[in-house]
Amino acid sequence: MSNRGSYMNIRHSSDYLKLINNIFQKFFDVDRINYHDELKKTLEEIGLFFNLDRVYIYYFSKDPTFMKIECQWNRECIRPKRESMQEEVVYALPWLFRKIKNNDFVAIDSVEELSSEAIFEKEAFSIEKIKSFLAIPLKSDKELVGFIGYESLEKPMKWEEEQIKILINISKVFSYTRVRLLKEKEYESILNGQAILLNNSESQLWALKNVTSYATVNEAHAKFFGKKKSDLEYQDLYDIFDIDTANKFSEVSWKLFQQNEPAEMELEVKNWKGEDRILQIKSKPQWDKAGNIKYLICTAEDITEKRLAEIELYKAKEQAEAANIAKSQFLANMSHEIRTPMNGIFGFLELLQSTDLSLEQKEFIREAKSVSDVLLCLINDILDFSKIEAKKLVMEQIKFNLRTTIEDSVSLHVPQATEKGLDLYSMIDSKVPEEVIGDPSRLKQILNNLISNAVKFTESGEISVAVDYLEEENEVALLNFEVKDTGIGIRTEDVSKIFKSFSQADTSTTRKYGGTGLGLAISSELVKLMGGEISVESILGEGSVFKFNVRLQIGKRVCKQKFDFEKFNDINILIVDGNGNSRKVISSYIRETGLKIFEAEDATSAITTILSNANTENKINIAVIDYQMSGMNGYELATTLKTIPFAKDIKLILLTSSTQRGDGIAAKKYGFSSYLTKPVKRDDLLNCIAIALNLKKADKEDKKTEKYVINEVKDELRPKILLVEDNEMNRKIVISMLRSRGMTCDVTVNGSEAVKAVKGKDYDVVFMDCQMPIMDGYESTRKIRAIEGSEKHTTIIAMTANAMAGDYEKCIESGMDNYISKPINFDIMFKLIEDNTKEREFVADYNSIINNNIDYFIEETGLSKDDAKEIFEDYIKCLPDMLTGINDAINENDFEKVARLTHELKGSAGTLRITSIYELSVNLEKAAVRKELDKCIKGFSEIKNLFY
Ligand code: ADP
Repeated sequence: MSNRGSYMNIRHSSDYLKLINNIFQKFFDVDRINYHDELKKTLEEIGLFFNLDRVYIYYFSKDPTFMKIECQWNRECIRPKRESMQEEVVYALPWLFRKIKNNDFVAIDSVEELSSEAIFEKEAFSIEKIKSFLAIPLKSDKELVGFIGYESLEKPMKWEEEQIKILINISKVFSYTRVRLLKEKEYESILNGQAILLNNSESQLWALKNVTSYATVNEAHAKFFGKKKSDLEYQDLYDIFDIDTANKFSEVSWKLFQQNEPAEMELEVKNWKGEDRILQIKSKPQWDKAGNIKYLICTAEDITEKRLAEIELYKAKEQAEAANIAKSQFLANMSHEIRTPMNGIFGFLELLQSTDLSLEQKEFIREAKSVSDVLLCLINDILDFSKIEAKKLVMEQIKFNLRTTIEDSVSLHVPQATEKGLDLYSMIDSKVPEEVIGDPSRLKQILNNLISNAVKFTESGEISVAVDYLEEENEVALLNFEVKDTGIGIRTEDVSKIFKSFSQADTSTTRKYGGTGLGLAISSELVKLMGGEISVESILGEGSVFKFNVRLQIGKRVCKQKFDFEKFNDINILIVDGNGNSRKVISSYIRETGLKIFEAEDATSAITTILSNANTENKINIAVIDYQMSGMNGYELATTLKTIPFAKDIKLILLTSSTQRGDGIAAKKYGFSSYLTKPVKRDDLLNCIAIALNLKKADKEDKKTEKYVINEVKDELRPKILLVEDNEMNRKIVISMLRSRGMTCDVTVNGSEAVKAVKGKDYDVVFMDCQMPIMDGYESTRKIRAIEGSEKHTTIIAMTANAMAGDYEKCIESGMDNYISKPINFDIMFKLIEDNTKEREFVADYNSIINNNIDYFIEETGLSKDDAKEIFEDYIKCLPDMLTGINDAINENDFEKVARLTHELKGSAGTLRITSIYELSVNLEKAAVRKELDKCIKGFSEIKNLFY
């Protein structure tokens, strides 16, 4: 059977199919280990099948100019193609390689047919005695990587097309398999590299198949439990670990699976040594195509040491904070304790001052009082500061009138400002809500601090307090406050430090102005607690503007205007004031009424304005006149206006910088219908205008206006006061202070007596201590309120040395109306009395003259008590007539008569050693001699006050 014939025969035989099938199957899943043997066997199978002498495979080396036989087969008794498999140079067979590169095969049936170009090949084939030859290229991604050689040494052969096709296919299987195995090798080495990393990693790694079963783990994880990797892999947690560990582990795993997304969790388990450890686990699920979790990959760090360190740090921080709070609490308690004796010092100094003293002694007391003031400020500041530090400062949430609060704060500083010749005024935008919910006393504290600094650090010029509405959100208004001065200013480099505690702009400040450097630090904290910020803009030598904003819940936007000014649209008002800003403020308040406004900066231009508009629609109906003006003062302008026919009916309202007793009467004499103190408060101004327009009668309920309407002026107060106080020293001080102003009070020493006293008498005001034996102030107030029901309401004001958070609420909750802290600020006490005293018929009490002076008279004269009493009683019988005489003489402007009668009064008072009447008479007589009406009025009212 010829070669050809045998081939043709087998071509369709089942052997042929078997061969192909076998090769394909073997090589598709052959592994690296068996590859070479299988390859060799296959080459033999092919060789024998096609009746060849040699089959071999060359692959190019890394350097493609070399190649090497990877596998070869040769028939028995035929020498192998190569004895040793060394690298050979490719260019030894140049023609062949050119051909292989460009063709699917190179078939040489007989070497005689070799092309003339194949010089080297011819020579090589003849040396190797090759008769027939087939080369099929091996390609990977179309790139030539080697070839398979088929040789016949004994005889030439005819390479059939079909045969070549089969061998080409087989070569494809070979090259595919080789590439596959190379890639696998490469992949394995990568995997090996990764395994090195994973197994040497300090972090624990594991993959879970489900909540209780591992897939794979790294060494670190196995080691943590004192196990081998293989102990854990593909095992159930409950088969590996004790029940407790397995439970804990699966519980955490369950939660992580539940998350179905990257998650983090802590697991507390025992390690192989039985130590409790904390593992911080981070997990990431891997999903299959259906979206179910295939593996949950977990990494974990042992954070036990880190956690312990954190706990230690936290404990240390807690301790430090506790120590800090304890310190602040101690400071707060200390300041409280200091306040109580301070009450005594203040009170007695005040009392001492009202006794007969030499000039030098008076000076000493003044000094002592001034340093006590500083000490009290300091204690208050420290108390506040420590409350803030101890986080004990709680903001009140109560409804209050914002405008009044601001205006009151400004008013408080008017005396000091006036003393320094500074103008102090406030400007409140009409959009600022009237009533808000917040902490009025803390707002006042901030304002007081800024205004008092402004007054302190300003030598000339003016201070303005402006309040503007910025925005609002959910019924909460953002308000901006600005306190502007024309004072010494602050250097840019000092601006940042002044808001820090105990910081002042520079050391010279302390020397010159005193202070502690706490005020702004406290203000800044308070502002923060009110949801705002504080800042300052300042130019050294020119002045400063302190700005802060706060958020306050709106109570009432605008209080309905009490008066219907609308129908007065033909009424014209003239504001006469030398200070432009003051005019601006007053105008802005009047503008809200819709009345027409004119301004004049002095008396002359006021008169001009009045005259030039006299017969026009701009006729001036009301004039608001400042007392202090250059040229003519307010009284002189009023006197002049009364002489001008066009002007004499103009209603006049007086503005004064500070009121003194008698101001009202003097103003009335000059033709003013009412008077106002500066800085002008909007509502008071509108009240006065309303009264001038007969829109309002100065009715009794409206106490505020009463004060400013001259007809109704009451200088004298005969309030009915009840003092409830168990501490003797405190009682003494309050009683003496009241007496110094000609007032008396009833006294009880505990709450239960107070209840009885209130039942039996209609008091204007009850000052109630809080801590008392038998019944404290809170309970007493509750009882009083229960008795009064809705029928009556006695004003009860707490007097307490407690100034900690919650004290105010406690007083208010029990039914008290207000609260003054100890040491008592007597100005506040008197203001409260004044505000709460009901109007009553006043009966002069001349007997007090006897009680207050008789002892001194007896001491001085050596008379018996009875004799002395008789003389005094005769004296007080004549007193009313004498006083009426002086009053009438003043009303008639009869200065001579005033002087004569006062001289008599002075003489009799001197004889009876009644120093109070004597000294005041000396002054009144002098004023009468000099024909000074204002001073006469004032002096006389001071004398009259002695008897009420
Ligand atoms: P104190 O006034 O008690 O020193 P503050 O905290 O109120 O404390 O003020 C801190 C410092 O800021 C002051 O000492 C002063 O140097 C500076 N300062 C505050 N207000 C003004 C102002 N209106 N003008 C100039 N300097 C001011």
